[in-house]
Amino acid sequence: MQIVFIGPPGSGKGTQCEQLAKRYRIPHLSTGELLRRTKGKSTLGDLVASYIDRGCLAPDFLVLPLVMRLLEQDDFLAGCLFDGFPRTVYQAEFLRDHLSKIGQKVEAVIYLQVDESDLVDRLQRRSAIEGRADDDQKGILKRLEIYRQRTEPVLDFYRVAGLVTDIDGSKSPSDVHRQIVDCLTNRGS
Ligand code: ADP
Repeated sequence: MQIVFIGPPGSGKGTQCEQLAKRYRIPHLSTGELLRRTKGKSTLGDLVASYIDRGCLAPDFLVLPLVMRLLEQDDFLAGCLFDGFPRTVYQAEFLRDHLSKIGQKVEAVIYLQVDESDLVDRLQRRSAIEGRADDDQKGILKRLEIYRQRTEPVLDFYRVAGLVTDIDGSKSPSDVHRQIVDCLTNRGS
């Protein structure tokens, strides 16, 4: 079960993937988490942080090898919940080509839809709790802009293939979870 989650920053991808990973016992790959973990560990890690903290996408030459290394591990072979990847059409093509080499493909794309004003509120609240450098006002607006420019086209890429289910991400986390489970259960029926 290879499932991609797409949604603007603050739409709840991380929260939902965590719960679904437990429910279905498949790994959750958050590229944001993966990249944040490299922070302060090496010169490359500090370079990554300089992109994340400004709300910019980290460059592919840093992101793709990290993702590749994980996908080659045995526990990712049977399935994965992709959270924050792919974020560009180039990354979507990369994922398609990589999965096809191991006889797999993206089976479903969950789009978490939330209004922009709600997103800004959510991210500002998260900023107060977690203190993420990119959750300040400037970082939030930058990430929303990059999302519109670079990530929304990824939705179209998958829509053409008929893979996308729109989920109302403005509801409570448990309600959104239920909507996603229903979608995955009814897939193909
Ligand atoms: P959010 O969805 O709230 O922006 P994430 O944790 O998914 O939070 O991502 C945080 C940051 O990590 C992004 O703004 C970007 O700098 C970097 N990042 C995450 N995934 C990718 C990716 N696939 N390609 C490039 N940069 C990424």
